[in-house]
Amino acid sequence: MHFTAPLTIALSKGRIFDQTLPLLAHADIRPAEDPETSRKLILATNHPQVRLVIVRASDVPTYVEYGGADLGVAGKDVLLEHGGEGLYEPLDLRIARCRMMVAGPLGADLGSRRLRIATKYVKTAERHFAAQGKQVEIIKLYGSMELAPLVGLSDRIVDLVESGNTLKANGLVPLEHIADISSRLVVNKASWKMKHASVMALVAALREAVGRSGA
Ligand code: ATP
Ligand code: MG
Repeated sequence: MHFTAPLTIALSKGRIFDQTLPLLAHADIRPAEDPETSRKLILATNHPQVRLVIVRASDVPTYVEYGGADLGVAGKDVLLEHGGEGLYEPLDLRIARCRMMVAGPLGADLGSRRLRIATKYVKTAERHFAAQGKQVEIIKLYGSMELAPLVGLSDRIVDLVESGNTLKANGLVPLEHIADISSRLVVNKASWKMKHASVMALVAALREAVGRSGA
């Protein structure tokens, strides 16, 4: 594959990087270094025109929207929270799949008072409960949401659930399904126009890789 335009692709370390790597390999893009062992935030690839930048998962949409990267891979959870208007989202990569759920202690009697919800997904949680006509109090956390109901910080949490084992280990049960989550390819709007051939070649190769993985 030949990319005529320079392309910067934003990825986060961990599961998104690990699961995007085989898809990129199908597009003949291979990073020169492993981000888990390298301290570099910009990784060269086998293509002189293509580089990867390593950012926080929740920062990927921001980098792509403002042109710090031409493309990126972001969880739908992160995109729901960011708001999708400033970006194109041409492809569901079908990786890092899980569900966004409301969870809480089994059989807790909450009466009719206003629920307290602990989550890092403040906007998505607000939207979910507003759609049910429920007034809730949202408490913003940055991680370990499962702890909040155990220490009386909140009645419920909104979090990602894969197997349900973390909930179970903390005496919580899934209560309501909010959204199915997977990672999406996102593209900067100006890059989509100005680097169209290179962006489309990459999107096509990734689409084919997703199809072949059959997930
Ligand atoms: P940070 O560590 O920067 O705060 P993070 O904890 O959200 O970010 P990861 O845990 O690597 O980073 O998650 C990255 C993305 O992977 C999430 O945005 C989500 O889309 C997806 N993800 C998170 N947890 C799971 C899970 N248990 N199963 C499948 N996918 C998940
Ligand atoms: Mg994490």
